[in-house]
Parts: sequence; structure tokens; C-alpha cells
Amino acid sequence: MKNKIELLAPAGSLEKLKIAVMYGADAVYIGGKFYSLRARANNFSLDDIKEGVDFAHKNQSKVYVTMNVAARDEDFSEYELTEYLKYLESVDVDGIIVSSMYIASVALSIAPKLEVHMSTQASITNSEAVNYLASLGIKRVVLAREVDLEQIRLLTKKSKVGLEVFIHGGMCSSFSGRCMLSNYYVNRDANRGGCAHSCRWNYNLYKKSLFKYKKVNKDNYFNIASKDLCAITLIKDLIEAGVESLKIEGRMKSEYYIATVVRCYRNLIDAIYNGEDIDYNYYLEEIKKAENRETSTGFLAGGITVNEQLYDSNDHPTKEFVGYVLDYEEDKHLAIIEQRNHFKVGDTLEFFGPNLKNTSYKVEKMMLEDGSMVDVAPHPKQTIYLDVNFRVARGDMIRKKQG
Ligand code: SF4
Repeated sequence: MKNKIELLAPAGSLEKLKIAVMYGADAVYIGGKFYSLRARANNFSLDDIKEGVDFAHKNQSKVYVTMNVAARDEDFSEYELTEYLKYLESVDVDGIIVSSMYIASVALSIAPKLEVHMSTQASITNSEAVNYLASLGIKRVVLAREVDLEQIRLLTKKSKVGLEVFIHGGMCSSFSGRCMLSNYYVNRDANRGGCAHSCRWNYNLYKKSLFKYKKVNKDNYFNIASKDLCAITLIKDLIEAGVESLKIEGRMKSEYYIATVVRCYRNLIDAIYNGEDIDYNYYLEEIKKAENRETSTGFLAGGITVNEQLYDSNDHPTKEFVGYVLDYEEDKHLAIIEQRNHFKVGDTLEFFGPNLKNTSYKVEKMMLEDGSMVDVAPHPKQTIYLDVNFRVARGDMIRKKQG
């Protein structure tokens, strides 16, 4: 194996960018306020982009800015394209991710230091298309999620630029997000970042008989969604295939999700490069702690079967994440925590972080900022003080231990 593969993580905010980098992402992708999907993500201001790039570069990580909206004329008048590209180049953004050849061509001509990557929105599935884009100056292609491992092996052999492959996160029932369900049902445009996940809603299924429709589903609702993607068991194959970058989906996800998923893939990738024996069950169990939907290997393992479809449309929000460390006063053994889910005295928690292995902790007492003792932390974002006699640091996560 030659150069180490890139682990690329999503970041919907500056705080998430820092978490992703601290937990081991080689690169992060973010959306600015212009030309980006994920309209509802807490997209980065121009100052945030600069701060994010500075932080990432100090920690040997890269930043790519998404510019993959299906742009309308008004998008171009909101902020001048050339000015935006020049700004991104001036603050040392490493690359942009585009789906429009127009935006790509402007970037290539006026901001040559920015790498241009072709987004998965372009649905690229063959080496002819990859090499055509390469001839225009595109430096990397994000493959459509619909290609399988066998096809990826062929593509990496024939392609003249690096390939990026999705390994984790949400999947669409339609081809690489080319879907209008959300537009039709709630007037929210999936191709402008507004998808309402209509494929995951609960539907009744009816069969038409001569004079009436008869409901077919008796007890359960019906939905048309796919399971989320989880490629833990295929990472070694993707590394050996010569893929350049492994991408995690989810700019709307929480800090806890980012920390758990990035840390899990980081440790797995490092273990593979170190030639260690891999206990895949361990990694699958770890990653499950941040998942609220069922997962599968999607299209990567070959033809889609019944196992890649979702039959229970209900999300199961994870209650395991209870907070994260804002600070640690080492002399007093005091951890300052931001609460994210209910926990109480008597609960057994688990701390983990970029430099902290999973460490069990029983809550004996907890304190508020004014020094008063409490038995329970019921309020989101509440600041709680805990006696912790092992060293923790800002950004370490805390979850409720199960079982
Ligand atoms: S509704 Fe479902 S299939 Fe359509 S874009 Fe949204 S997630 Fe994808």
C-alpha cells in the first residue's frame, strides 16, 4: 500500500469541523453560505471558513468547500462567483466540490490554487467520464454511490485522477439524489439542500380492486427508503483498490455522531495500515452507538437485495450521547460538561476522545455552576460539573453506557 488513504468527514459548523479534525479526519468538507447544498445546515460565513481552514491546516488536515447547488440565476447575483472563488483561494481552502461545469471552468481559470473536485451529483460511474473531466483540469471525482467494489477496482486502474467513494451515511432510493419526492410533497428542493426525507415517511399501501382500494398493510406502515450506508467491512478492499478518499456523509449530523464515526474509521484505517488483525465486530459495535437507522453496505458489495432496503421507517434517536467536555480543571479534577441528553446520579457513563480510550465513569454527584448539587441534568445545553479523576479534555464525548 502506498500513500495513506484520505478520511474525509462532513462538518456543518465550525465546532463540528474542529471535532472532525480532532477525532482524526484527514480532510473535512463544508458549505459556505453561497453555491452550496444543505440550505438548512449551519453553513459557514466567510470568517468561519478562514478560521476553519486555519484550524485544519494547523492540524495537518485539509478543507474542501462544497459549491454543488443546482444553481439558478439568482444564486449568481447573491454573491459574485469570481469574488467568492478568489476569497476561497486567498484563505487557502484546499479545494471546491462542484456539480456544474460552468462553476468548474470559472474556478480553473481564475483560482488555479483551488483543486476542483466533481461532486457525486454528477453521477459519474465510468472511467471515460472521469478521464474527460481530468482532461479539463478536474483533480478528483466523487463517484456515484451506485457503483460496486468490482467496478471501483476497474475505475481506479483506468482513471487519470483520484477517486472519492462514500463509505458511510444516508443513501437515496433514487440515483445519487436525483429525486423530486420532497419537492412534490412539501415543496422542499432536494437538489438545493432541502430534502424532507419523504422516502422515509410512513405510507399506507393500497391495492385496487374493482370498485375500491383495499389497504394491504395491516399493522405496519410502508416506506420506500434504503438503509444507511456503513462500509466498515469493506475499507481494506477500498484501500487495496487504490481509492484516494473515503467520504462520510452527514453535514446535518451532531458533534457526537461526527466524533464517533470519524474515530471509528480513523482507528480502523490505521489498524489496517499497521497490519493488525481486525476485529470487525468491535468496529461495527462502536459505530452503532451513533447510528439511529439500520445500515447495510449499500451498492458497494454488489447487487442490491432485500437486506439493503428499510422495512421499519422509524428512526430511533440515540439517547446514548449525554454531553461533551467543555473544559477540565486538572488541579480540582473537575470536568465542565455541556449536557446533550438526560442523565442522573447513579448512571454509568463512558468518556471517550481523540486521546482518551473508552473510560467508564459512575456519576456519584453533580454540581451546577453556582456550586449547588443536583441529582439530575434534564436541560439540553445545561452546564454541569463532574468530579472526574482521569484526565479529560475539551471535545471529549460522554455517552450513557448500555447494559
Ligand atoms: S426523499 Fe429520499 S430518495 Fe429523495 S432525495 Fe430525499 S433522501 Fe433521497
